[in-house]
Amino acid sequence: MSEFDLVSADRRRLLVGGTWREASGGGRFDVIDPADGSVLTDVADGTLDDARSALDAAVAAQADWAATAPRERGEILRRAFDLITERSDDFARLMSLEMGKPVAEAAGEVTYGSEFFRWFAEEAVRIHGRWMNAPAGNSRLLTVRKPVGPCLFITPWNFPLAMGTRKIGPAIAAGCTMVVKPAGQTPLTMLALADLLGEAGLPDGVLNVVTTSDSGGMSETLQADPRLRKVSFTGSTGIGRVIVRQSADQLQRVSMELGGNAPFLVFADADLDAAVDGAMIAKMRNMGEACTSANRFLVEASVAEEFGAKLAERMAALTVGRGQDEGVDVGPLIDEKAVTSVTELVDDALQRGARALTGASAIEGEGFYYPPTVLVDVPADAEVVRNEIFGPVAPITTFETEEEAIAAANDTEYGLASYAYTRDLARTIRLAERLEFGMLGLNSGLVSNPAAPFGGMKASGFGREGGFEGIEEYLETTYVALPAG
Ligand code: NAP
Repeated sequence: MSEFDLVSADRRRLLVGGTWREASGGGRFDVIDPADGSVLTDVADGTLDDARSALDAAVAAQADWAATAPRERGEILRRAFDLITERSDDFARLMSLEMGKPVAEAAGEVTYGSEFFRWFAEEAVRIHGRWMNAPAGNSRLLTVRKPVGPCLFITPWNFPLAMGTRKIGPAIAAGCTMVVKPAGQTPLTMLALADLLGEAGLPDGVLNVVTTSDSGGMSETLQADPRLRKVSFTGSTGIGRVIVRQSADQLQRVSMELGGNAPFLVFADADLDAAVDGAMIAKMRNMGEACTSANRFLVEASVAEEFGAKLAERMAALTVGRGQDEGVDVGPLIDEKAVTSVTELVDDALQRGARALTGASAIEGEGFYYPPTVLVDVPADAEVVRNEIFGPVAPITTFETEEEAIAAANDTEYGLASYAYTRDLARTIRLAERLEFGMLGLNSGLVSNPAAPFGGMKASGFGREGGFEGIEEYLETTYVALPAG
């Protein structure tokens, strides 16, 4: 099977009410291969009318879907998990093609992304309310959990599968219907996933997919509709703010998984080799194009030189190239704009006195490549440590005391992931309590896990995906007051 058998021509269209159809205006837009800038294929360009039809279908399907037995909802998810697992290689190659990441890395995302379906298959049958004796003893309090209702999901290009399954899984488990708008740069994985969910038995209209080049128009139109009850968005903080504003008129529930600026703290008492291993994962997963990516390395001054040298050696040894080629560790960035943005951040740091131990200039030729880069002597006011880099660049700054390290780590508007390497147990407790981030990897470079509550605070958003918390985003509570018998 080739990667495009997963997304045949009749699936590169809109899915509305169980029917795959062309956009009402007949328009299409291209999907680009970031490895060389060529056109991979095209998909239907949904209009605002198509978006309204998709919401009509979600609304029409809502009541029956909410009444479907939890076990049945769970088993659909479980079948979908099995089907994704069977087709893991095809999904990995497809994702690699449209997004650029190496196939082996994409296979990791297939495992991670599909696990949300298995996890929420298990959660679907564990939605429960409570029965409680009121404190005064004269009444009983009962709570009933209900699905929120039709949802809009907007997902980014960096994890084309997992950012979808993190929302679709709990929504299916809770009994919500949905309209999904994948990123225009990576729509193919979502189309393949939607097709697979139909095969797994998901009823028509529960999941509708609209690909469009008019994301702003679509979110504005659907959010103005009182029938839409929830928006879950993963993407940049700037667009997240727009969506939260748009939610105000209809008072829609919102979940926001936004940008990050993760600090990676290395204390002098840490196992430095383990810290370098963790740094490679936290920095280089997805070529640095991850919201959880280590964005600033804060290293205790006495070990900074050794840590920098070891990290630079590992980064310089990585092979950059087309994600589908054998032996490639680092694929292209998503587009030309991404290369320009990373280049500007690195150049700014160099102008302010930073030194590059490896990398630091874009790779000429076709495709959107930037080499793994390590910068030392980076001043605290450099743009590269103030902004989300979204590329394979590791800027290192130093600190003298724990107090200084915590203050520097918290000195950002973001609050998503953070990392710390230390062997001091008392310090790990202080860090867990004082770092203002939704997630902390302690002696670990990876925080993502479908069984854990993923999410941020401050400008990184609100709401949690995964864990026991993930399904709460899709449930309402009705409290029933009863007199004592
Ligand atoms: P983005 O530009 O904000 O786009 C995200 C999604 O929003 C895409 O589907 C995009 O569609 C759509 N969009 C763009 N403008 C919109 C508008 N006005 N109304 C509604 N939707 C709109 O972000 P990105 O560049 O794709 O993704 C990178 C960002 O996502 C980074 O900041 C990263 O940290 C964040 N992220 C966060 C998490 C998390 O869990 N916290 C996970 C992954 C990524 P089009 O591109 O097709 O227009």
